[in-house]
Amino acid sequence: MVVGMTACSSERTTAGDDETTAGEEAAAGGELIGIAMPTKSLERWNKDGAHLEELLQEAGYETTLQYADNKVDQQITQLQNIINQDPAVIVVASIDGTALAPVLADAAGRGIKIVAYDRLINGTDNVDYYATFDNYEVGQLQGQFIEEALDLKNAAGPFNLEPFAGSPDDNNAKFFFSGAWDVLSPYVESGKLVVASGKAPASNDEWASIGVQGWSSDTAQSEMQNRLNSFYATGKVDVVLSPNDSLALGIEQALEGSGYTVGADWPLVTGQDGDQANVMNMLADKQAMTVWKDTRTLGDQVAKMVDQMVKGEEVEVNDTETYDNGNKVVPTYLLPPVVVVKETVQPLLVDSGFYEASDLGL
Ligand code: BGC
Repeated sequence: MVVGMTACSSERTTAGDDETTAGEEAAAGGELIGIAMPTKSLERWNKDGAHLEELLQEAGYETTLQYADNKVDQQITQLQNIINQDPAVIVVASIDGTALAPVLADAAGRGIKIVAYDRLINGTDNVDYYATFDNYEVGQLQGQFIEEALDLKNAAGPFNLEPFAGSPDDNNAKFFFSGAWDVLSPYVESGKLVVASGKAPASNDEWASIGVQGWSSDTAQSEMQNRLNSFYATGKVDVVLSPNDSLALGIEQALEGSGYTVGADWPLVTGQDGDQANVMNMLADKQAMTVWKDTRTLGDQVAKMVDQMVKGEEVEVNDTETYDNGNKVVPTYLLPPVVVVKETVQPLLVDSGFYEASDLGL
């Protein structure tokens, strides 16, 4: 329950290039819950936002859902506008996890609670809970998939690997990379995996040196193109560690542009999210796997946590050790990620209703 908010405006209008304010007719007295998402340009966030909004409205809350076009300043302005509407809780999937401390101090001063959604918010006391998938495990699943697919324990190799990492401003990216690199780096050290471009971080802490700002497909494509042009005039790349599907898409376009052929020399490419275009590429043998995070389960969990917070009940978490944001260890609910390959698209993604068969041309 929000108390003592004398400085707040009761307006229900918000600024931002993309927004919906809905649920005004929901149960009388329904608290307002703000939802701040990073961008509409990536498929998963559209699903995340829509699902969470629907659940909260079903539970009788009013909601305001904002997308910030991957622009940090825009997200801060949107948060400020949400704060001015007196919400009980704001759920934030941050763009830059280090840039929100001042605006969240304002929220805390007005008694508004904050849930970090999917991405941790750093450098502030004013984040109450965090809910995400096990980010280290996401990377570990990618690394283990490569290890098994190439039979690295037994095969002589060497195999040519090109590693990529996520956006340097996203707290998740270092967990993804560490999970994968803890599996793969021993093979790089032994020479069974060779990084011809030289873009192999010397340690997990150096991951940002191969990070792709804003998780941009275009940047990943041109980076892959450069590596192929400069280092693979003769040899072929055998495997690409891509931390997510948006990068994988760009990498797959670069491979296509360089004349790699499915069924002949197409390398193994990893991913994450189960985005529609990538699932189609899996069905076409252009992507070997994706780590699927059923965003419906994250929404379900966050809606439950928000409801517990508003009602002053104990908030369900299952990790109170891992996610230190520099100021505090944020109580977290971690969900399990799942590997999907071509053969399990139907049982995992279609039969569960995440996609319609027709979405995937099945
Ligand atoms: C999310 C990933 C997503 C990436 C790019 C990360 O924080 O955990 O699921 O692929 O951002 O949007």
